[in-house]
Amino acid sequence: MAEGRVGGGPGAAAGIRVEAESSSDQRGSSKSGGMSRKDCIEGISSAINHPTVRFLREEMEKAGCPVWPALIKGAICSTAGDYRSGDGIRVCCNSVRYQDEINQVIIHELIHAYDDCVNKNMNWKNCAHHACSEIRANHLSGDCHYKRELLRGFMKIRGHEQDCVKRRALMSLKSNPSCSEAAAKDAVEAVWNICYNDTRPFDRAP
Ligand SMILES: [Zn+2]
Repeated sequence: MAEGRVGGGPGAAAGIRVEAESSSDQRGSSKSGGMSRKDCIEGISSAINHPTVRFLREEMEKAGCPVWPALIKGAICSTAGDYRSGDGIRVCCNSVRYQDEINQVIIHELIHAYDDCVNKNMNWKNCAHHACSEIRANHLSGDCHYKRELLRGFMKIRGHEQDCVKRRALMSLKSNPSCSEAAAKDAVEAVWNICYNDTRPFDRAP
């Protein structure tokens, strides 16, 4: 369980214990093209000192949201990362390649953690609730910043940011078994204006 834990690092100073997820699927981490386990855990520790991550953590604490001991873990998983209510955030070490990606994943997932905490009736099985949080996470994390979009090969400039947020929100909703593709599309459209313009806890999209 303690494997990969960062003891006295900056993460510990910030009150978050970073640890590698201990599960039987650790094998294969080095051949699947991501970062080494060590680099990944170190990357997560550095990300905790990223100004946006610090800000979100502070805002969560102010809002009375529990920042539990092992909020962020390095793991072997199939996406770039995820957040599960009560379980916390996983960074998929086998998918991430750069520090910037780790920062992005953590900021994105922290928005979900924030939403989970401040919206008392949050129901992840409800397509509209989940869609709203995905719109916010993709918008506010900078996932759709034009430089990242150029790297992905999406070159359209006008309106690219909103297209990108929609595209990525729909992609994430595919993982929700209670959201069919049609329901996901409808949900994104239905909550778009409210959720795209809801930039809490930021004054405006960073
Ligand atoms: Zn998400």
